[in-house]
Formats: sequence, C-alpha cells, structure tokens
Amino acid sequence: MADSARWAISTRRRATYPRPEVKIDIARIAAAIRSDEYFAVSNGRRFRAAERRQLRVGARTGMLVVILVAVFGGAILSLIHQPAIPLIGVLNGGLVIVAGAGYWLLGRRARHYPEPVIFVVTVAVIGVCVLLGLGAPELAILTSGYLLLLPPVVSQIAIWRTLTHALWLLLYAVVILSFLALVPVADLSPIEKLDVALLALVSVGASFVGHVLGVRARIRNFRQLRTIKTLHRSLERQRRELERALVDLERTSRVDPLTRVANRLRLDEDFEEVRARLNRAGGSCGLVEADLDRFKPINDRLGHLAGDAVLRSVAQALQHSLRAGDHVYRYGGEEFIAIILGADAAATEATAERLRAAVEALAISHPDNPAGSVVTVSVGGTVIGPADIDETDGALFDRADRAMYAAKTSGRNRIAMDLPKWFSSSSADGRVAPDGTAPARTGWAANMGG
Ligand code: GH3
Ligand code: MG
Ligand code: MG
Repeated sequence: MADSARWAISTRRRATYPRPEVKIDIARIAAAIRSDEYFAVSNGRRFRAAERRQLRVGARTGMLVVILVAVFGGAILSLIHQPAIPLIGVLNGGLVIVAGAGYWLLGRRARHYPEPVIFVVTVAVIGVCVLLGLGAPELAILTSGYLLLLPPVVSQIAIWRTLTHALWLLLYAVVILSFLALVPVADLSPIEKLDVALLALVSVGASFVGHVLGVRARIRNFRQLRTIKTLHRSLERQRRELERALVDLERTSRVDPLTRVANRLRLDEDFEEVRARLNRAGGSCGLVEADLDRFKPINDRLGHLAGDAVLRSVAQALQHSLRAGDHVYRYGGEEFIAIILGADAAATEATAERLRAAVEALAISHPDNPAGSVVTVSVGGTVIGPADIDETDGALFDRADRAMYAAKTSGRNRIAMDLPKWFSSSSADGRVAPDGTAPARTGWAANMGG
C-alpha cells in the first residue's frame, strides 16, 4: 500500500516536471561574449587609446632591447662560431636596421599604429633566428632556444590586441614547425625536433595565457581608474553645488524674508564689526531706530497681509533713503535699526529725519494714525564711539530705543536724539543737553507733521 503510494507520487512528479529541451542559442551566446567585460572593455575606444600609448612607450624600449641583443649577441656568437661571421653580421645587422626603423617610426609617423610596427619587428626577429639556424647548422640548437623564448617575451612587451597576439602566435607556430621540418636531421635529430615542437607548444600556451592575464589586469586597472575619475568628477561637482548652496544660505539666512532687508543675525555681525572698527580707528557712528506709528490698527482693520505689505514698503523706503554701504535691519516686528557709518550727531539726526520723511512720503493711507492720515514712523537716534567700549550692544541699542520712545511720547512721526555723556563733553555744538542726553527734539523738527 505504502509502496504504491510512493510510486504514484514519483510518477506525478515526472509528469509535472518534463525534462527541459536543450537548445543552443548562438545569438545569445555571441551577445554574452560581446558584453563580457574582457571583450567589451578591451575593444572600447578609450581603453584602446590608453593601451596604444602604453604600447608605444613599451615597444620603443623593446626595440632598443632588440638592437642591443642583436649587437652584443651577434658579437659573442661571432667569437664562438667564427665560420658563421658573415651570416651573423648580415642577419643581425639587418635586424638592427629593422628595429632602429621601428624605433624611429614609433616616435613619428607610426606613433598611432604601434601594432603593425611591432608585428613586423617581432616577425623579423623570428626570421633572423630561423635563417641563422638554417644557414649555420651549428647554431640550430641555439636558435631553437631563442625561438622558444620569443612568445613569452613578446606577450610581456607587446601589449596589443588579443586578435593580433593570436595571429602572431599562429604565424610563429607555422614558422617554427617549418623551421623544424627544414633543419637537416644531421643538425637536429627527430626526437630533438619533437622536443622543440613540444616546448614551442608550451611557449605558445604560456604566451597566450600571459597575454590574457595581462589584459585582464589592465582592464581592471582601467575600470578602477575610470571609476575613481568619475567619482572624483561627481565629488567635485557636488562640492561646487554645496559651495553655491552655502553661499546662498549664508546670504538668505541674513535677509529678513518678509521685508527683504537685513535681519537681526546680520545686525549682530555687522554691529560687532562696526564696534571693532570704532575701537581700532576711532571716529563715531550713528545708530537709528524707527518704529511704525500705531501699526496695530492697520492689522486690525485691513488684515495681517495688508500689514505685511505696509512693512515691506516701509522697509524698502528706509533702505533706499540710506547711502550705499549703510543698512537697515529688521530689529523686531515693526521696528527697524539703521547703522550710519562714520556719522556724527548732526549727520545721524539728518539721516533720522530723512528716514522719517521717506516713510511719510510713501503716503500710505492710515486713518487711525493720530500723527497723520498716512503711515509714519517715529525715529530715535544716537551716536556711538570708542568711549562706548565698555557698553554692551544691548545698552547701545537701548539708547536708540530710548530716543525712539521719546519721539513717540512727544507726538509720533518725529525724531529724537539720545546722546551719550562722552559726546556732550566732547561736542561743541550747543544742541546737546548738559547731562549728555538730548531731549526729544520735537522743536528741531519743526517741519514735521503730527
Ligand atoms: P506704536 O505707535 O505705539 O508703536 O503703536 P503700534 O500699534 O505700532 O505698537 P504695538 O507694539 O502695540 O503694535 C505693533 C504691532 O505690529 C503688533 C503686531 O501685530 C504688528 N506686527 C509685528 N510684526 C508683524 C508682521 O510681521 N506683520 C504684520 N502684519 N504685523 C506685525
Ligand atoms: Mg509701533
Ligand atoms: Mg514696536
């Protein structure tokens, strides 16, 4: 019973999973080979160009080696095998000329085509070995040795295309087999010929494997270098973008988004710089505070958005009333500060009045303003100098604030000055109170409204 159940399961399995039909898809295999890293990269334009440069440099060195071997090897061979001196002289001399021409060509016209030049010179080396072996029987063993050495050496020096290398090896195999066939049995016995043929086979195999491994290593280096370059470029691009974003951020973080004038952060930074400069170089500087008169009713009556629009217009009017280089800063909700660089009391007063008048001149309707039927500001001013070195920033702003409140309490839409004690003792103008603080100058601003 159990056996029949097992049998039923196994037959069902066989029925469910039929044996897959084996089909060889040549097109897919060809596509896979083409997209293989080895073929895809080694045939790539950039890789080939980089390889060509290296090949040219390596090959020129190789040509010099061939010349040196031909000269010194030829000299030594001539000493050992004197009867063969003419043959050695002609063949090695010819090889020196061919290798010299190759060296010269690789530095000039043929610099972009190193492969054919190297091919010709290496074939010339094979030819010289073969002819020496055939022409001087006593050199047959020696030249066989040279021939056996050639493929691995070429695979290390001639870093060329795999197809070129394969063709070169094929030609080499034909030549060495022909050489072995042509060498008289008196010079190389059949068994020696077989040994040489076997060694030639090993040499060809070693050369091809060496070539493939070399190309693989260079492909890996090339890809890594390319990845590093790409990463470096994208890093550089990101760094530049970040730098731009940082500059933008630095700028926008110091601008009040509503009124587009400088904000409190910028005020703190600029004020620190102004104070440092005053302490270093002396002189004085005006500090002015402007506050909108009865601004709250605008919001209450016309809405917050209308209030925002008024704030924007007033801030821009204040900024445009200043000299280039001086700035208006949004200090609080509807309060603005201006730093008047290099100003003394008179210049500060004049600037405060210019600011007041500029806002009034906007003529923005404000029926609930007791200081007039348009939007106005009350402005307070003070001067700061090196004598204020011990004062905190807050104390100096308070001075301008006190002056502004003095302008408010004396009727709004007017200016007032609050001058420090050190100023009254150093100033010769009689407009400052003896205790150093100037009262609200409502009288001075006789031309003002309100
Ligand atoms: P004063 O003449 O005494 O200065 O009267 P004021 O109404 O201007 O003074 P108060 O301090 O009572 O009101 C200031 C108002 O400013 C209150 C607040 O709603 C308004 N305000 C502050 N910041 C903003 C802002 O960003 N947008 C708008 N629309 N209103 C603001
Ligand atoms: Mg106000
Ligand atoms: Mg206020």
